[in-house]
Amino acid sequence: MADLPMGETVRVSAARRHSYLIVLVVLPPAVLVAAVAAAWGRAVGPLDVALAAALYTVNIFGISVGYHRLLTHRSFRCPRPVRVAFALAGGLALQGPVTLWAAEHRRHHKYSDRPGDPHSPWAYGDTGLALLRGLLHAQAGWFYSARRRSSREHWVPDLLADPDIRRVDAAYPATAAASFLLPAAAGGLLSWSWAGFWTALFWAGLVRYAIVHHVTWSVNSVAHCFGDRAFPARDRSSNVRWVALLTFGEGWHNWHHVEPTSARHGVLKGQADPSAALIRLLERLGWAHDVRWPSQSRIDAQASRHRASAPAGRHGSPRPP
Ligand SMILES: [Zn+2]
Ligand SMILES: [Zn+2]
Repeated sequence: MADLPMGETVRVSAARRHSYLIVLVVLPPAVLVAAVAAAWGRAVGPLDVALAAALYTVNIFGISVGYHRLLTHRSFRCPRPVRVAFALAGGLALQGPVTLWAAEHRRHHKYSDRPGDPHSPWAYGDTGLALLRGLLHAQAGWFYSARRRSSREHWVPDLLADPDIRRVDAAYPATAAASFLLPAAAGGLLSWSWAGFWTALFWAGLVRYAIVHHVTWSVNSVAHCFGDRAFPARDRSSNVRWVALLTFGEGWHNWHHVEPTSARHGVLKGQADPSAALIRLLERLGWAHDVRWPSQSRIDAQASRHRASAPAGRHGSPRPP
């Protein structure tokens, strides 16, 4: 890693890195392989699928609207119960306490695709095996390989100063346990059987968590590498439709890097953004205010700036890192 200014990062212990290796790097793909093996030749029960889909929806909105747009980028404000609910919903996705998630992500924006970015797919080079290695690094490898993580005191003093967020952080181990026990208990009770408990634990607990992880991490890898660009970001952030579909709008990543505080990421025609739709609904209900909606004139101005600087075509030619 590049030498960053003093105080931006803190050392990660070997024990913590090894726990990241198990929980964040190795276990999710192992679960997915087990899921394919388990599903081979027999259908998955509709109750397990329904519970997994419900948890997936809560998790993705928890990360996209809660952890990301509300708490990391302050795209809108909301009453305390709504803020806490989103922080807990993000916690159920098992991507770490919100203060750590937000600290790493704010550093990502400051250094995006340059030395200092915690998870750029361009970290090892531009072509062939170096890019493949970079994509694996951006997807999950950085959790293990990083010897230092972002200092919360440096990056998220606003969140640390919030007593509600401190309580949500302290409750993270319980939230993580609930992420498995809630669907398992629901499966057991609704089917009134232990078999229902265990299959829901597997499908709506483990498999759902593995899928949510890799869908989310695809924004860091795929949406900084493939896809098209319409705006002049100073990094390689891009738009990838399937990532946007699975992440409820987060895959429209190019505009997000141009205007990180914007509550809407999909600002162009045809770019569906369910997370922005949810924020709009909250606003209408009076549960969100001071929403930072992007102005059309600013979108148009940035798009024409990009066209002027990248006449080569729709993929543009962003500055190499
Ligand atoms: Zn990014
Ligand atoms: Zn962001």
